[in-house]
Amino acid sequence: MTKPVSNEARMRGRQFYFNPGPTNIPDSVLAAMHRPAEDFLTDAFKAVLRRTHANLKHALGTRQHLLLFGANGHSAWEAALANLFSRGDKILMLESGYFSYHWTKMATELGLEVETLWADWRKGVPAAAVTERLAEDKAHAIKGVLVVHNETATGLVHPLAELRAAIDAAKHPALFLVDTISSFASMEFRFDELGVDVAVGGSQKGLMMITGLSFTAISQRAMEIAQSGGGLRRSFFDWRAMMTVEPQRFPGTSPVHLIHGLDEALRLLLEEGMDNVVARHGRFADAARAAIRHWGDGAASDARISWDSVEGEIDGIQILCTDPDRLSDSVTAVFVPDGHDANAMRQIALDRYNLSLGQGLGPLAGRAFRIGHLGDMNEPMMLGALATIELALKASGIPHKSGGVDAAIAALSA
Ligand code: PLP
Repeated sequence: MTKPVSNEARMRGRQFYFNPGPTNIPDSVLAAMHRPAEDFLTDAFKAVLRRTHANLKHALGTRQHLLLFGANGHSAWEAALANLFSRGDKILMLESGYFSYHWTKMATELGLEVETLWADWRKGVPAAAVTERLAEDKAHAIKGVLVVHNETATGLVHPLAELRAAIDAAKHPALFLVDTISSFASMEFRFDELGVDVAVGGSQKGLMMITGLSFTAISQRAMEIAQSGGGLRRSFFDWRAMMTVEPQRFPGTSPVHLIHGLDEALRLLLEEGMDNVVARHGRFADAARAAIRHWGDGAASDARISWDSVEGEIDGIQILCTDPDRLSDSVTAVFVPDGHDANAMRQIALDRYNLSLGQGLGPLAGRAFRIGHLGDMNEPMMLGALATIELALKASGIPHKSGGVDAAIAALSA
């Protein structure tokens, strides 16, 4: 009698990791951190920190200010709010989904007044709505416009150049704050050209690093506001104290190993070239979308999503974002048809085939799964993951048209 295959045996080979963050970490990045403790006050380490700063600024397209925090993306969110706004200040949040909701929650807890421009999570906020709202604000009570560039929960991108133009069209002085956590180093982002005032990012997505570092790019105007004496109570997060040393001071011990890892990740990205990095992510996103559209065989619905619910019917597998100009190149969220459980399918993918996919967040729990196609990735990995998703769809009885991988191959060879 053949013995049942143990889980351990099934887990031979590498796990295919297709979560939208953290992402796969290149071996050379892991190796760069595998080193003994190092005195962070030496000239040798200061040189690495200077190079990391310079390379990150280059990748971000900025000659303005940059600060790194030895903490995950939430810290950069909080630092931006605390340095730029004072208690009771009003800010305008563009709703995109789970992450705009959580940035709003943080700002509210810190004592800011948050007004939300509501949107269907499948479409995002139209740029014209920003102009309209700011034009009404004759007294300039709104101090900042905040947007999550790439909403990781839904795979929807807000167009930054259009939003900048929308703020300018209203002739409004509000600061423009952008969360680039799941877009930077995957999608086009040029800080200075876009006229962004603050961009926050994290190490564990397009930057292909472990979790634990975040960055904030800061315009000269935003830095002057932070230095002018306003802001919320802050200590660890005080940009002013961090700016007293070139290229920056870390409050306490510098996160030496994280900086070495980021230094190597940036070396890899710049060697590939940021334009090529962006193009590569575009190709993989096209492949994922081609497979999903094939599985769904034309299924589309006008179901809407808000924080509380999904309203309407989902009659077949389909891409969650319905605006063709706002599709994310780093993550695609996929609806499964009504009556089927996306989490059960994800569990099968993980337990049987060692493929890790992202879960549906908030109202999308069980209704959708997410394919993270960002970071250290190539064609065989992408095709392998799509083939395995199809296997898991079959195993979990989710109706789909087979042959999604052929559609992905056609997209990749176009
Ligand atoms: N913003 C976006 C768009 C994200 O995707 C995430 C994490 O996935 C965050 C913020 C929070 O980042 P962190 O988990 O590093 O605090």
